[in-house]
Amino acid sequence: VKGITRSLITLHDAPKQAAVIGAGIMGGGIAYQSACNGIPAILKDIQPAALQTGIDEATKLLEKQCQQGKLTLPQAAMIRAAIRPVLQYDGMDECDIVVEAVIENISVKQQVLADVEQQVSTGCILTSNTSSIPVNKLAQVLKRPENFCGMHFFNPVPKMPLVEVIRGEKTSDSTIATVVHYAHKMGKTPVVVGDCPGFFINRVLFPYLNAFSRLVSDGADIQVVDRVMEQEFGWPMGPALLLDVVGLDTASHAQQVMAEGYPDRMAVSSPDVISLLADLKRLGQKNRIGFYHHT
Ligand code: NAD
Repeated sequence: VKGITRSLITLHDAPKQAAVIGAGIMGGGIAYQSACNGIPAILKDIQPAALQTGIDEATKLLEKQCQQGKLTLPQAAMIRAAIRPVLQYDGMDECDIVVEAVIENISVKQQVLADVEQQVSTGCILTSNTSSIPVNKLAQVLKRPENFCGMHFFNPVPKMPLVEVIRGEKTSDSTIATVVHYAHKMGKTPVVVGDCPGFFINRVLFPYLNAFSRLVSDGADIQVVDRVMEQEFGWPMGPALLLDVVGLDTASHAQQVMAEGYPDRMAVSSPDVISLLADLKRLGQKNRIGFYHHT
């Protein structure tokens, strides 16, 4: 970890109480992962239905762990009780760390982060799970930008080992150390990266997804592309299924941020299949229709 000694990381206690804002695909998974690893998490959304979906997902994951003999029923019940669903900012003043995981929209994220900063104690670390928006832009609205950095998990959270920890211009070493420690506690592999649109992974991934979108506009058969990439090339899933898993709305927002950030290298083709599907509200697995129908 550049500029941070191992001792600084181990000197920093891992957070004891977390909050996750946004109970969607990512927020639900992050709260689950935190609770499973002994750090209770408040899970906040503005929509009761979204909050319920997040809790239902966590419950399903816990039931699976019980069926596989990895957890006993009382252990699963304790973990479930460690995820506290809320619609207001109840309990935020008890948190050491907050992960913002609301929709990939800069003004919504800035508003949420500014609101959360007012609710938490001055020592609380704020992070954003943004996939593409530079964290320096998000930090502009904060009074304590030194306490803020990116914490980018991957989907599905319980399975994917990597977490990008994104250091902003004003992020303190101590904030990075705490976030790295939290990621380790959650069983993840944190990698500290610099700030830019898309950070590391999405600068690699989006040129591929854009190329897929161009292939489809040129007439490629989606199922054939997925089958070749998955079965013959050996990747865990093809690009169409991957986009359905990520969510077409989220992918489309991230793609726009990347196109603005790198107009010469990541320009979006027109017509662009990803934004077309998002506009048609074919959002992928989350609403059961994207490139594919999902049961
Ligand atoms: P999602 O659409 O599944 O969930 C977003 C949630 O945020 C919804 O439940 C919505 O009700 C809630 N929300 C919106 N405004 C809110 C507010 N003001 N306060 C509280 N909650 C609010 O989205 P997602 O896929 O979970 O993505 C969330 C974030 O994670 C985005 O920044 C996205 O770029 C990032 N991300 C997504 C993926 C992925 O594969 N989907 C992977 C890594 C990072």
